[in-house]
Amino acid sequence: GMNIKGFMKKNWLLIATVIAVVLGIGLGLLVREYTSLSHLERQYFGFPGEILMRMLKMIILPLIMSSMITGIAALDSEVSGKIGLRAVVYYFTTTIFAVILGIILVVSIKPGVSHKHFGSTGTTPNVTTVDTILDLIRNMFPENLVQACFAQYKTKRVELPHAFEAPPKVLPENATSTPPLVTTLMAVMENVTKEYKITGSYSEGMNVLGLIVFCAVFGLVIGKMGARGRILLDFFDALNEATMRLVQIIMCYMPVGILFLIAAKIIEVEDWAIFGKMGLYMATVLTGLAIHGLLILPLIYFVFVRKNPFTLMLQMAQALVTALMISSSSATLPVTFRCAEENVGIDKRITRFVLPVGATINMDGTALYEAVATIFIAQLNDYNLDVGHILTISITATLASIGAAGIPNAGLVTMVMVLTAVGLPANDVTLIVAVDWLLDRCRTMINVLGDAYGAAVVEKLSKRELERMDVASDVDMANP
Ligand code: ASP
Repeated sequence: GMNIKGFMKKNWLLIATVIAVVLGIGLGLLVREYTSLSHLERQYFGFPGEILMRMLKMIILPLIMSSMITGIAALDSEVSGKIGLRAVVYYFTTTIFAVILGIILVVSIKPGVSHKHFGSTGTTPNVTTVDTILDLIRNMFPENLVQACFAQYKTKRVELPHAFEAPPKVLPENATSTPPLVTTLMAVMENVTKEYKITGSYSEGMNVLGLIVFCAVFGLVIGKMGARGRILLDFFDALNEATMRLVQIIMCYMPVGILFLIAAKIIEVEDWAIFGKMGLYMATVLTGLAIHGLLILPLIYFVFVRKNPFTLMLQMAQALVTALMISSSSATLPVTFRCAEENVGIDKRITRFVLPVGATINMDGTALYEAVATIFIAQLNDYNLDVGHILTISITATLASIGAAGIPNAGLVTMVMVLTAVGLPANDVTLIVAVDWLLDRCRTMINVLGDAYGAAVVEKLSKRELERMDVASDVDMANP
């Protein structure tokens, strides 16, 4: 009676969203079965969903700026340093756990060994690991803040038309003693046949990392400015509150948007048979994600926080469903904020600072996926991986997940780095593209879950510092 009513009242949005998912899938299947829409008609059909995505993306910029700046400025620099360190240690450890879990599963299930009918497409490597790491650092320092709102820097390798000219192999007969430097140089040059040049260009997508780094430092500076910084702090604090109110409004539209988003997706899928063919590979990824999300992360949370981990999962449900529906950690961020602050009740000084960073660099699901997919491709290629290869995959998959933007299919792009690092053909990502729309949304959900548990763990570990700051500010207020 009363209990169910109370639950419905408190969770009406979550209930409406879940109903929208079910209705959307049903509608999608019906339309698919009884009509045949043209490409254009399908796009029109997806319009309400498109609007939801636009609204969620629209809010990211003010949300990230106001939350990062006020989050950091509210802590003194020593405390924010400690909290930041704890967050990074949590992100790193859980990501490594996810990678190891993925490797164990794919090596024992061997989904690629029995699927020899997928031919490799073979091609030359493109950008290297070094290039990718340098891009990550370059993007931390955006050369233009306005541009960072819509573009990221990406390195491209261009093969120069004229390679090194091989020097004459035969030395003059009378050259009895060749200087060692010359011999070394010649030996090197003999091996070099191609020369590359790296150039860069800006590609579509917000440079969230660059904005976060800027706002973090900006917040730190404002926090240290004292009375003069107060006006800026108040401004961004008010901006944050206003932004969160906008989020609340957008979320009311969410069920409608999601209904059409998922329906349009179901109508759009062309090849369902591929699911059968790639079944074992998909099962490997999904099993890994499930173990990580239902066992490993909850266990870590329980060890540190000593509370029921599944309560937090339920409190985050709205954000998890959103991530599952829209395949983007960044676009889910507004909802993640609301759930973490309103439902879980995590200290705002933690969420404001830790959640944007988490949504950008902490991607357990993506890391697990990249490790599984790479080894799956190696299995398809009959490519023997030794311990060194496995180690390389662990490291590069972790880096690739950090480098992946929180947007749909980003993991597929950064996987090229993992493939080339172990000498697999980069073009082989095409073998797994067809099923990525499904795996992408599942790994995004785990990415968001990892951020939420992370914020809760970091809050717990930082209790003492936060309380000390509360006491200090009470004293401040008593004797201004
Ligand atoms: N879509 C994922 C995310 O936003 C990234 C990925 O492609 O793995 O978290």
